[in-house]
Amino acid sequence: MSFFANVELVPGDPILGLTEAYNADSRPTKVNLGVGIYYDESGRIPLLRAVNRIEQQLANDAKPRGYLPIDGLPAYNQATRELVFGKDSPLLAAGRVATSQTIGGSGALRVGADLLHKLLPHATIAISNPSWENHRAVFGAAGFDVVDYTYFDAATHGVDFDGMLADLGKLQPGTVVLLHACCHNPTGADLTVAQWKQVAELLKDRQLFPFIDMAYQGFDKGISEDGAAVRIIAEAGIDSFVVANSYSKSFSLYGERIGALSVVAPDANAAKAVQSQVKRIIRTIYSSPSNHGAALVAGVLNSAELRQVWEAELTEMRERIHALRHGLVENLVAAGAPEYAFINDQAGMFSYSGLSRAQVDRLRDEFAIYAVGTGRICVAALNQGNLAYVAKAVATVSK
Ligand code: PMP
Repeated sequence: MSFFANVELVPGDPILGLTEAYNADSRPTKVNLGVGIYYDESGRIPLLRAVNRIEQQLANDAKPRGYLPIDGLPAYNQATRELVFGKDSPLLAAGRVATSQTIGGSGALRVGADLLHKLLPHATIAISNPSWENHRAVFGAAGFDVVDYTYFDAATHGVDFDGMLADLGKLQPGTVVLLHACCHNPTGADLTVAQWKQVAELLKDRQLFPFIDMAYQGFDKGISEDGAAVRIIAEAGIDSFVVANSYSKSFSLYGERIGALSVVAPDANAAKAVQSQVKRIIRTIYSSPSNHGAALVAGVLNSAELRQVWEAELTEMRERIHALRHGLVENLVAAGAPEYAFINDQAGMFSYSGLSRAQVDRLRDEFAIYAVGTGRICVAALNQGNLAYVAKAVATVSK
């Protein structure tokens, strides 16, 4: 008897597969725009100065490695709550937010999905079309039926806001709605503050349940500005919702797997009860999270000096991405492709470039430039050394 003789081979992650193909490519001009990672001007993942400094402090004051509580490092959870909701949020003062450290933003999504599937067993979830590929998979794995709502308008390269409102308006009360707080992945198309207010009113009127995914706080306009969606939904008087956040990008801590799930409940007692449920879920998956990433983030956020260093570095990353967007558009115009001006209006690391699968294939085959088949490019993988080359190649395949 052989148990594993007939196991089906499932396809690998398409984006990680792209990186494997890029790594195997020996052409010296190769560029990988398929990733979801911020690279600095020298093409490396930055080790932030604030992170480096707290790491040295922690090493000098080395501590024994006991288990963290099931829901993580308390100082980390407190600092995260304040960053995500704003220090002065009435929700915090009322004790209505239960925050748990998780294994990256992905862990927050999955623990949140398990929680909601348990508390709202008949709910479906609606995700934007398109969305980060893993959203469908994570919520599907937690037992949700996943539907989508109109989001992107390929003609304007922005949000199809009327289509979005129309689709949200048709959802059954009690449906969970997944919303990208900012820097929408994969499109780069975000809602304005006025549009968020309209969405919040609709969610409230239709009794829809907001699940906010905030993986890029600080990557578009600033920490507070990028958190606007969270505050607007709270201010609309929606009494229960969840936020999954990640420090992978904002602290450049990808491999430390550090994020958090924050659950907003109608009052402090309900928040405690929900937290007990979250802890039970975590206990049965990985028991408790790891220490290092949380110690780094808490150490930086809770030190006035290091926090200032971090905020300056985050500003540097954000401004560099904006400059790369402008540089790309300028180079595209110079190369005879003026139709890409919309790239300046998109937010965060990604742009839905409008490139077709055939054009993406040509970029790979003729220029060793790797992009996702949907046309998603990572602007944060560009630098002054490859910008003109990429623009010329894109202009060539666009003719
Ligand atoms: N949500 C979105 C929209 C993302 O783009 C990502 C990361 N690419 C995540 C969640 C997951 O973040 P993490 O890497 O911290 O698990």
